[in-house]
Amino acid sequence: MEYRKLGSTDLEVSILGFGASPLGEEFGAIDPAEGERVVHEALDNGVNYFDTAPFYGRTLSETRLGRALKGRRDQAIVGTKCCRYDVDGFDFSAKRVTASIDESLGRLQTDYVDVLLVHDVEFGDRRQILEEAIPAALRVKEAGKARYVGFSGLQLGMLESLAVESEVDLVLSYARYNLAIRDLDVSLRPLLESRGMGLVNASPLLLGALTQAGPPEWHPGAPEMLEACAKAAMACAESGADIAQVALKFCLDYQPAATTLVGMSARDQLRTNLAAADFEIDPALLRKLGTILEPVAAMAWKSGCAENQD
Ligand code: NAD
Repeated sequence: MEYRKLGSTDLEVSILGFGASPLGEEFGAIDPAEGERVVHEALDNGVNYFDTAPFYGRTLSETRLGRALKGRRDQAIVGTKCCRYDVDGFDFSAKRVTASIDESLGRLQTDYVDVLLVHDVEFGDRRQILEEAIPAALRVKEAGKARYVGFSGLQLGMLESLAVESEVDLVLSYARYNLAIRDLDVSLRPLLESRGMGLVNASPLLLGALTQAGPPEWHPGAPEMLEACAKAAMACAESGADIAQVALKFCLDYQPAATTLVGMSARDQLRTNLAAADFEIDPALLRKLGTILEPVAAMAWKSGCAENQD
């Protein structure tokens, strides 16, 4: 396993990070015992970064991750979030952040997390995030309950403006650097580099769209984009490649991201994803995928409040 330093923190994170939203059954029912085994096998293979949130499975993901990490907490870098609790359930108040971390620590069976992120910032009021949520998260850090603090979201303009106006350690961006969409690299990446902030890249499989099985029904992407992803999956299959491995390897090779978070809940997926690190993408296939996916590169979907959708 290769490790990279996360921004200016002292965390050396595995380039393959464990996205724990499937442990909360966000992508459908799972076998909880298998979920626990996949966490153990990930640790055994050098995966050290685990990302969860109270929102994933409405606390189920944190509870299951906490159970799976029992006795092995010291081998893991654990990140959780605050401020999002349901599909439409957000609270960016300082009071909620302060209470939220204690609830998360209880579920995770630990007395600190390595990373605390304000979750899905584009759903919040910009001023409240800057004046309440982020300062409260920084106080959680001062209290020793989180080692590092940041925020996450989809809308690049919002992530950039908050990164300029706050003193956080890292930003988690999802679905903006992958085989299909790469606009993260245009201005968020250089901004974070100039501010010494770490970058976590999530959803390399574009929430399941870049897999042979295709996206979940609730996928927010435009139909044209999902069709192009399906065509890309077919092109991979025709050349004997698995699009999930191609898509993951493409992200693992992206040096500015310290870690790439992929959602996993079964050992066969973990094994495919571990093997992706040594996978060589055929340059001819990559060119073909470029041709198929180029027309949809600007089709990232919008999320959050209208005023935060730039
Ligand atoms: P993803 O792109 O990682 O796709 C996950 C889907 O792909 C799941 O259905 C999973 O079962 C499947 N999968 C995984 N490996 C596979 C393989 N080898 N072959 C076929 N299918 C495979 O999307 P994601 O889960 O949304 O993102 C990864 C993680 O990043 C999340 O679990 C979460 O921890 C984090 N994340 C955070 C935010 C945020 O903070 N706002 C947003 C999105 C994701």
